[in-house]
This record gives sequence, C-alpha cells and structure tokens, in this order.
Amino acid sequence: MTFTLSTAAAAVSAPQDGIAPTPVTSLEGIVERARAAGVRWRALPLASRMTQLEGVAVRLKEETARLGAIASAEMGKPIAEATGEAKYCADRFVEDLQSIANALAPYTRSDERTISTIAFDPFGVVAAITPWNFPILILQQSVLPALLAGNAVVAKPSEVTPRVAAAYYSILNEFLPQDLLMVVFGDGEQGRALVASSVDLIVFTGSRNTGAHIAAVAGKRLARVILELGGKDPMLVLDDADLVRAADFAANNSFRNAGQVCVSTERIYVDRSIARAFEHALVERAAMLKVGDPSDPATTIGPMSSARQKAIVQSHIEDAVKRGARVLFGGRPQAGNFVEPTVLAGVDHTMKIMREETFGPVACIMEVASIDEAVTLANDSPFGLGAAVFGADEARAMLVAERIETGMVGVNQGCGGAKGCPWVGAKQSGIGFHSGPEGHRLFAQLRVLSRKKSN
Ligand code: NAD
Repeated sequence: MTFTLSTAAAAVSAPQDGIAPTPVTSLEGIVERARAAGVRWRALPLASRMTQLEGVAVRLKEETARLGAIASAEMGKPIAEATGEAKYCADRFVEDLQSIANALAPYTRSDERTISTIAFDPFGVVAAITPWNFPILILQQSVLPALLAGNAVVAKPSEVTPRVAAAYYSILNEFLPQDLLMVVFGDGEQGRALVASSVDLIVFTGSRNTGAHIAAVAGKRLARVILELGGKDPMLVLDDADLVRAADFAANNSFRNAGQVCVSTERIYVDRSIARAFEHALVERAAMLKVGDPSDPATTIGPMSSARQKAIVQSHIEDAVKRGARVLFGGRPQAGNFVEPTVLAGVDHTMKIMREETFGPVACIMEVASIDEAVTLANDSPFGLGAAVFGADEARAMLVAERIETGMVGVNQGCGGAKGCPWVGAKQSGIGFHSGPEGHRLFAQLRVLSRKKSN
C-alpha cells in the first residue's frame, strides 16, 4: 500500500483501538485497591523497592522497538524519534532509580542541643495524569519517583496514546506487587473523576487550562499537586549571534515532534540588524525537512497528533496572517492531520500565535530594536517554562538570560539543564516540578524527627 498523508492521519484518528475507557464509577474502588497494595510496599526499605524495579531496564531494552512503533502509530511521531524516546527511557532507567533513591535517603541536621532526621515518607496514592507528546518518557518521569518514595500509583495516560502506555505500564507491572500500579484509561472525564477521588498527590503534565482545573479541585481538599504545564518559549537572537548556530537551534526546536514539545521555541525575537539573514537561514532549514509517513525512517515531521491539535495550529496561522504576518515558508492547507513546517515574520503580540500555546511546527519571527525590547516582549506572557538566548558575547548573553522570567533558560543552547537538574516551569507553566533531587523529593512527604543530643 502506498502511504499517503491522509492514511497517516487515519492511522492516528482511532487512538482507542482495543482499549475501552474505564467506567468512572469504578475509579474510587481502583484508588482503594492501590491504597491497600501500598501498605506493604511502603513498609519495604527504599533499597528493596529499588532492587525490585531494577529488572525493568532489561525488559525496556528488549521492548524498545515495539514501544517506539506503537507510539509512532498512535500519535504520529517519526519512528526514529519515537524509538529514540523508548531507548532513552530504557538506557537511563537504572540511573534514574539510583538518583531518586539518593534524593530520598534520610539525612540529619544537628545543633548543639538537637539532632534531627529529615526523612521522606509516601503520601499514599499518587494520580499520574499524562499527555501524549512524549508518551513514554513522561510516564517514567511521573511514576518512578512516586513508586520509589513508597506510594501506590493510579495512572491515567492520554486518550491519544493509550496503547503505548498500556505496553509501558505492563512492563513495570511484571516487577511490581499486584494492584500497586493501576492504570485507568479514558479522557478528561476519567481525569476529572481521578482528581475528584481520594488520591493524595496529583502529578499532572498537560495544558495550562487543565492544570488550573486540577489546582482548583485539589485546592478544596488541600490535596498535593505537581503541575507541569504548557509554555510559549521565547528565543532571543542578539545582534552578535552566530547565525548558523541560532538558525540550527530555531529550526530544530520549532519543528521537532511537529512542534508538539512543551519547550518548543514558539516566539523568536531577532535584532533588526540581522533579521533578514536569520529569516533566510531559517527558511533554508525548514525547506530541508521531510514531511510524511511517520513510520518512514527518513521522515522528520509526521502528522499532528489529532485533528483537534491541527485545528488549533491552523487557526493561529490564519489569525496571524489576517493581522498582517508574512508567510516566508509553508502555511498552505494540507490533507489529513498534517501541517507544513511554517515560518512567519512580521508577527506581533496582538496575534494569538504570540500569546497562546500553538504546539505546532511554526516558527514566528519578530524584529526588535534593542535587548530591552526583546526582554520586555519575552516576559510579556503568562507562561515561563523555557527560553533561549543566542549571542557570541557569552557574558552579555548570560546577563540577558537572567532577566527572563522563566524556569529554565539556555545560552547558545536549549533550556534543558545538566544531568540531575530539575525540569521546572515558572509563572503559569507549573506548580512544583519533577527531576533532580529537588524534584524527586516533591513526590514524598518530609518528616522531621528530632531528639535531644546526648552529652
Ligand atoms: P491536556 O491538558 O489536554 O491533557 C493532559 C491529560 O489530562 C490527558 O491525560 C487528559 O485526558 C487529562 N485531562 C483532560 N482534562 C482533564 C481534567 N479536567 N482533569 C483531569 N485530567 C484531565 O494536555 P495534552 O493536550 O494531552 O498535552 C499537551 C500539553 O501538555 C501542552 O500544553 C504541553 O505544553 C503540556 N506539556 C507540558 C510538559 C512540561 O513538562 N511542562 C511536558 C509535556 C507536555
């Protein structure tokens, strides 16, 4: 069969194949089953919990190709990227376990009179509600620290990627006691019911609006939350930036995963003196991308994950063009769920595409007259997830980076930190965060146990 753009779209339009949504009436019972299984689990020493999970790494390595293929078919991520995501999870699994265990080990503080132990207790049952854009990695980031901290987990993966979640969680369940990790399938209806249940901590990765709903519901009973939300990441290209490096980064970070990355570059502010050259370099790179069948190893951009996601991106492009944006590349209507890689110039902050999360393969370039103007515009957003500053004078670029209201910012590189750094959003991009010792500890309740120092 010849694979056309519309058959690729069809491949992702029936995501729930073979997996029925969990009846919401059964949710509280599921939470209670997990809670019961958690009683023995939390009593195990941290090292035993870790040992029990170690074998998962080998199984993930054996299943890398299968996990990648399912993810790619479900949400349109090019097969090389989807398999790369599965491999990354397998390769780092044991290292992740070790770094979580290190973070959760108790430690002491003392003064002349008192010695205190700071310990990390489980909360009870953790709800892990996850999106579709990194349908393997985000499961691992959400669930591993929760389990190692001694919690039971009820996971609710995205309705767009249920099969890859089922496959991933069933591998974990080969090594876990029965009922400790329960999985609920469905969409917002199941998500809402889980949030309203008696779970003790809600670990959520997804959109800002769903996060706001969860915060409001959890707030009523003061349930704990970790919310990793959307972004509208700015990139600042200073007048002395290395154009090749800046354009390479902008192309990769605007178009990767069809722009469906929480830290995609969604706004580019370029110094006026180099704007034409930067636009030209970015268009050249956009033209080299290969849009098509995600199962073809040569494809660099697959279809959008859903018709809903495509409609959002199209409406942002149309609004921008109506308000005067210039289309430098792409932007033409496509069949199925495809969106062409698109480069827009002449954008401004009256346009939706510069204010709301687009989550599509669109690079938006706005000229600025000064660093001050670039910083003001970068900060003119309710979001604050990632950012990037490109400039040859690194000291000057670092000073600019420090002025951006954001959780993560990279200078002449992406925003992700060195190994062991947290993944953190500022402003409306998150409450709490994961990864790194600081993040791992948010999956546990701190307990300070003190006694008098003996003489
Ligand atoms: P989404 O908010 O629509 O859905 C996320 C999950 O929440 C899904 O499992 C969904 O079924 C569930 N859900 C929907 N409504 C709910 C409700 N009212 N209560 C409880 N659960 C509910 O997000 P999405 O479209 O799946 O994912 C894309 C979003 O995720 C983007 O905004 C992206 O930036 C964000 N994201 C953030 C990060 C990060 O680390 N900050 C990482 C990946 C994705």
